[in-house]
Amino acid sequence: MGTPAVGDVGERLRRSRTKRDFAVTSEPTGTAPPPSDGHRFVVQRHRARRLHYDLRLEAAGVLLSWAVPKGPTLDADVRRMAVHVEDHPLDYFDFEGVIPAGEYGGGDVVVWDWGTWSLAAGDDALAAVDAGDLHFDLAGEKLHGRFVLVRRGRQRGGGNGNEWLLIKKADDGAVAGWDPEGHLRSVKSGRTNEEVAAAPAASWSSAATWAAPTSDELAALDGMGTSGRWRLGEHTLRLTNLDKVVFPARSASTAVTKRDLIRHNATMGPVMLPYLAGRSVDMYRSPNGVDGLRIWHKAAGRAPEWLGRWRDEEAAAGAMTGHVLIDTPAALAWAANSGVVELHPWTSAIGAITQPTWAVIDIDSHPEGTFDDMVVLARLHRIALDHLHVRSALQLNGIRGLQIWIPVAAGHSVGSTDEWVRQVSTAVGATVPALAGADGDGRRRSDVTRRGNTGHLGHRAVVAPFSTRAGPGGPVAVPISWDELDDPDLAPDRFTVATIGERLRTVGDPLAPLVGQQQQLPPLT
Ligand code: MN
Repeated sequence: MGTPAVGDVGERLRRSRTKRDFAVTSEPTGTAPPPSDGHRFVVQRHRARRLHYDLRLEAAGVLLSWAVPKGPTLDADVRRMAVHVEDHPLDYFDFEGVIPAGEYGGGDVVVWDWGTWSLAAGDDALAAVDAGDLHFDLAGEKLHGRFVLVRRGRQRGGGNGNEWLLIKKADDGAVAGWDPEGHLRSVKSGRTNEEVAAAPAASWSSAATWAAPTSDELAALDGMGTSGRWRLGEHTLRLTNLDKVVFPARSASTAVTKRDLIRHNATMGPVMLPYLAGRSVDMYRSPNGVDGLRIWHKAAGRAPEWLGRWRDEEAAAGAMTGHVLIDTPAALAWAANSGVVELHPWTSAIGAITQPTWAVIDIDSHPEGTFDDMVVLARLHRIALDHLHVRSALQLNGIRGLQIWIPVAAGHSVGSTDEWVRQVSTAVGATVPALAGADGDGRRRSDVTRRGNTGHLGHRAVVAPFSTRAGPGGPVAVPISWDELDDPDLAPDRFTVATIGERLRTVGDPLAPLVGQQQQLPPLT
């Protein structure tokens, strides 16, 4: 998208109270997932060491799976080799994202096709697989009609018995010369593998990719003295000063020690990492607790070898260019042990740092502003965003303010996204001049940082959901739903290290469904 033309968003806001204008809609970019009735199929295009397509048929509570190197085709004259591989768990069904290099299947994955399937005869899919002969019909977005999977005989050079053939039968669904490589885009997101690889963190949400620490691992942390070696997942960490107070107590809460912070970061890994992995992260350190010295920490420095790193090739000459990547629960635990009390990921992923995946509207408080003022401003932004058919969620920033998080499709620049946010907030501010800040744009003050000291033009960083903030009691940034604005007990620092677990168990993360949404920002004309 280019820079939006200056339009009268204020007029749109006023009109929105009396009349809905459906002329502005975002581009449809994906299709609805198939019904979860036990007969779904999916084909994932997977650029691993070798490109292949994974055909998966849901049966008996698993995904029966074949890897098809050249991909399925609608051409009835072509036979495709298909390697029968291990069954996959059902929660892999709509996985789209990047499997880290070094792990099994490392590479990028898109949901190339999905739909429902049925056996052509009989109803026992597992018996048909055992027999090596499966006739079935697909009803997908790309693939239609009758297909056959047949195991190749060993006497014909079929190797270990895992080699099958995938054949399209001649029927109404057959298309001569049809090539899957001519139909690359995801049916889930509209993206190509290249686009998913460029914005990997945008795609992790639907897969339980990061494991929380086991009870044995947590028991080992709890049982450790003031320092020691802690094995977490694949990595061993050297932990120090575990009983040092990082966050002093506030009112009813107890003080939060470094051990508590390490436990928080490690256990929050599965919900935090969708916002952190694949991004550079600005880290706010308080090595002697949040009452002491605080410094921004960006360089990789003396971080352990196993931490992921990224070098900003586009940074200005002489600028710090070595960045640590926080992409595992162990990396989160390392950050906590290093005195990091706030994690601020960039709004763009490292594969495309000039293209944000989030637009964040920060509604922060001037010293004289009240939280009630911010709630009013947030509600007005919601009217504007609803009017524009833009999906968003809120985050309590853990200290004083509120943020609105808007998922953004690949292709928007930092500048055009900033300008779009500025125009929306200016229109909102114009309706409540008494509340709008000096900029007159209803944002009060920007907490979405524009720090120039990385030497890179134009990146933005914002505190991660579930990151602690440098305040007493160990407050935590927490996504909330729009309806929670009506909660009379709402406060920006309401949730802490001590209470966030219960919050997640009862409410979950209202922002998570928006991760990776490919949303076009509509022109404001
Ligand atoms: Mn695969």
